[in-house]
Amino acid sequence: MPRATKIVATLGPASDTLEMLTRMVAAGVDVVRLNFSHGKAQDHIDRANRVREAAKVVGREIAIMADLQGPKIRVGKFADGKVELEPGAAFILDAQCELGDQTRAGLDYKELPRDVVPNDVLLLNDGLIVLVVEKVQGSEIHTRVRIGGTLSNNKGINKQGGGLSAPALTAKDMEDIKTAVALGADYIAVSFPKNATDMQMARQLATIAATGTGHKPGLIAKIERAEAIPRLDEILQASDGIMVARGDLAVEVGNAAVPALQKRMIKLARENNKLAITATQMMESMIVNAVPTRAEVSDVANAVLDGTDAVMLSAETAAGKYPIETVEAMAAICLEAEKSYASVLDNDFMNARFTRIDQSIAFGALFTAYHLQAKAIVALTESGSTALWMSRHDVPMPIYALTPNVGTQRKLALYRNVRTLNLSQSFDRDAVLRAAELLLLEKEQVAHGDTIVLTVGEPMGQAGGTNSLKIVQVGHR
Ligand code: PGA
Ligand code: MN
Repeated sequence: MPRATKIVATLGPASDTLEMLTRMVAAGVDVVRLNFSHGKAQDHIDRANRVREAAKVVGREIAIMADLQGPKIRVGKFADGKVELEPGAAFILDAQCELGDQTRAGLDYKELPRDVVPNDVLLLNDGLIVLVVEKVQGSEIHTRVRIGGTLSNNKGINKQGGGLSAPALTAKDMEDIKTAVALGADYIAVSFPKNATDMQMARQLATIAATGTGHKPGLIAKIERAEAIPRLDEILQASDGIMVARGDLAVEVGNAAVPALQKRMIKLARENNKLAITATQMMESMIVNAVPTRAEVSDVANAVLDGTDAVMLSAETAAGKYPIETVEAMAAICLEAEKSYASVLDNDFMNARFTRIDQSIAFGALFTAYHLQAKAIVALTESGSTALWMSRHDVPMPIYALTPNVGTQRKLALYRNVRTLNLSQSFDRDAVLRAAELLLLEKEQVAHGDTIVLTVGEPMGQAGGTNSLKIVQVGHR
């Protein structure tokens, strides 16, 4: 059984050569993340081109995810690059301050003084430094240091409990959406969405940017704000998937709340036929070490057991010392966790609700393949929807999405338990089904005599037209 859980790797200085990228893809990367918080448009365009090249070398389609910076609130720069904050000391966050010192720091988000009141808790540098608001005076937020430490240039600020008014899409994000579409991003990740409207806005901008190209990036909502939690349902409806963005989320809602939220978010995503990515610090220690900690191994395995589509690497592959080893270790953990995964498909069958013909065929294929113990499920698909519905349930055999559409192949690189192959279409249904069988044989994904379950739409070549199911024994006719 091939690995079902997909691996997202963030690109950066540690993974910028074609050679390195090729090795990473060969080691198991399925999706690359371009982090628009760093670098210029041209850097991302160059990276995207190298990714396509590396994918060609390895012979597997890879998805590109453009991750927008969003309204991450940061302190300004310091005269000395950093300051040391002592517990109990007074410290001012000042929207007017140009260059910070021991007593104050500037703010890139000038509205922050309006969003806080006395006793609010501000968390800096991923929560390592804690400030309590004492009073607000014009552009100045006067705080007391509760937990001190080194504060360096441009570190992030979160408000405990959430409630910052910054809109999800900044002017920079709007420009970056154009770049993302131009470089052929298969997914765009929106940072800090508060509600469905934020996602709809991003969708509109992407659609405008893609006018005339037919290109439609999937949209991933990064769940990293406290306000997003009660609005998960509407955010999911407006998105193609979510990212459990544990870095900022943990700071806003508290570390301890995150594991349960992760489980709930992944479950909800799957129930709504949406994708889920689990992100941040999964293999953090491998930024500097060649092996992961036991806790990291458990964390990745548990995300797999939660049903995530993908596990994500950030600095591990962007700036770490061991990008290849990290991908290899992650792949091995996923595989092992999947082996222990007990399918609960029978429960899913009891609870299944669908009204569409294509959804019903997708579910029928799962049911049949599961009980016949088929070797593979094969979905002949244009848009990939059948494969998406199938992959929202756990079955002990791989789902092959066969499509003439390379864009669909790339998008499906993120779907759990889905592998794609390019199959040119024709209007002769039987010829295409035979070609599908031959292709899987040629790629050694199935053997003579294996039972496989295929789904197809008639007439051929229309998205959303899946209406039939065929069960064959490979090579027997
Ligand atoms: P970031 O998002 O890496 O862009 O901050 C992920 C997270 O917050 O966990
Ligand atoms: Mn974040």
